[in-house]
Amino acid sequence: MRRKLVAGNWKMNGNLAANSALLNELVAALGHAAPCDVAVCVPAPYLAQCQHQLADTVVSWGGQDLSAHEAGAYTGEVSATMLADFGSHYAVVGHSERRAMHGESNALVAQKTLRALRSGLIPIICVGETLAEREAGQTTEVVGEQLKAVLAVLEAADLTRLVVAYEPVWAIGTGKTATPAMAQEVHATLRALLAGQDAVAAAGTRILYGGSMKPDNARELMAMPDIDGGLIGGAALKSADFLAIIAASGAQ
Ligand code: PEP
Repeated sequence: MRRKLVAGNWKMNGNLAANSALLNELVAALGHAAPCDVAVCVPAPYLAQCQHQLADTVVSWGGQDLSAHEAGAYTGEVSATMLADFGSHYAVVGHSERRAMHGESNALVAQKTLRALRSGLIPIICVGETLAEREAGQTTEVVGEQLKAVLAVLEAADLTRLVVAYEPVWAIGTGKTATPAMAQEVHATLRALLAGQDAVAAAGTRILYGGSMKPDNARELMAMPDIDGGLIGGAALKSADFLAIIAASGAQ
C-alpha cells in the first residue's frame, strides 16, 4: 500500500507574512497526524522560514528546482546540498514551466534527479504532454521519453526513493483537469515503465497527478489505483483548499 503524498508547488508566490499565516494554518489544522504525507515546495529564499516553522510538524518542505552541478561558478543556481542544508526533503525536478521557459531537456532533468538523490533529497520528477501532443496521439510517447531519460541514469535502488508527477501541461493553471480515467491511463503507463526497471520497487513508487487539482476533483482523482497523491499549484496557496485536498487523500 503506497501512502499518498500531497505536495504544494508555490511557484514564484509568497512573502514572509503570507507564508507565515499559510504555514501556521496548515500546522494548526493537521496537528500531529495527517492522512497522507504533506509537503510544500517553496521558493529557495523561504526554505529557512519553512525550517523554522515546520520543524517537528507533519509538513515537510522542499525546493522547486535545483542545479545539475554540485558547486562552483553557477551564478544564481541553488545546489542540492543547499536545499538539504535547510532541511528539505523534496525537490521538484523538470516542472513543465522549467522545461518550457528555461529550455530544460530530458537529459538535464535526469542529471538534476541524480543530483537530488545523491544529496538525500526525494526528487518529484514532473512529466507531461502539451495539448498539441495529446491531440496528435503522442502522450504515451512523450511522457515515456521524459521518464526513460531519467531511468537511464538511475540505479534500481533509486526507484524506491523518487516520486513521479504526471502533469499534463494543458491542465496546469488552466482549470482544465484530466479526467480520472485519462490520468489513470497515463499513470499505469508510467508504472509499467518503472516496473521494466524493477517490478517490486515500481509497486512502491508514488505517482502524483498535477494539473488543476482542486477540492472538488481531488477525491475522484486520488481514488484511481495508480494515483498516489497530488502536486498542487494554485490550490496550495489557500490553506482551506490545500487542507481539503489533503483530507480527500484520506477519504478513499
Ligand atoms: C503545478 O504547477 O505543478 C500545478 C499542478 O499547478 P496547478 O495546480 O495550478 O494547475
